[in-house]
Amino acid sequence: MNTMKRFPALVLSCAALLNSFCGFSWGPTGHDVVAAIAEAHLTPKTQATLDQLLGGHSIVYYSSWMDNIQNSPYWEAGYKQTKTWHYANVDKGETYQSMKKNEAGDVVVATERLVSELKNNYENLTDSMRADYVKMIVHMVGDMHCPMHAGRLSDLGGNRTKVRWFGRNTNLHSVWDSKIVESARNWSYSEWRDQLDRPNRGLEDEFYESVSSGTIEEWFVETVENASVIYEYVEGKEENPNLSYQFVYDFSPMLENRLLVGGYRLAYVLNSIFDPEGVQPNE
Ligand SMILES: [Zn+2]
Repeated sequence: MNTMKRFPALVLSCAALLNSFCGFSWGPTGHDVVAAIAEAHLTPKTQATLDQLLGGHSIVYYSSWMDNIQNSPYWEAGYKQTKTWHYANVDKGETYQSMKKNEAGDVVVATERLVSELKNNYENLTDSMRADYVKMIVHMVGDMHCPMHAGRLSDLGGNRTKVRWFGRNTNLHSVWDSKIVESARNWSYSEWRDQLDRPNRGLEDEFYESVSSGTIEEWFVETVENASVIYEYVEGKEENPNLSYQFVYDFSPMLENRLLVGGYRLAYVLNSIFDPEGVQPNE
């Protein structure tokens, strides 16, 4: 683990950039919504195992844990290596496949690895490692559905694309992490869950099957496509555009889709780890 050497450079680059650069996430509400939607679609066996691993807390409780450890003793104790696991960058004209991979890992590689550890190496992990891996998977499946976590390296995932949000200076990354979520609705995470999942009532199994087919990498590629649409929209406007009501209206369907689909896929990932017989396999 070479992270000790790399860390000073990271601190400098973070300090030199806009403050949201080091956040790297849906804000807490986005992560909570994804986790809450997932929780509603766990099998009883998966839920029972998670209850035991997480000491009775829900996956919603831990959905932002991976962000919060960045300011905790965990960080120094070996978690610095997770710094780059919240995103993967894909520049214009590139694909995830063609893009040079971040040697420190990215959201796709890290998620695949932790899922594989829990599926194939469970007996050799301590309970505390199992719990940490679950908390990270809950967070990373959320992040991989957040469009600016699939943004370009050339603008650091939207951090260097300056925009105004209802007149206030910010950047495109920050708009997608939290501002659009907060502006679109004044809902709590559970209200988001109830409203987004409502049209699926009675059709949950079909929806679950349709969105959980494919691989983690293929899921991420959808988010790369979302990011391209957002970049195109912003690039079609004047410099430092003022995004407001029209942007919220235009991108609410994408936002809602990312949260809902991310939630069902998180349920699928957790069910496939903890209740492979109970999950309807698509693979
Ligand atoms: Zn994150």
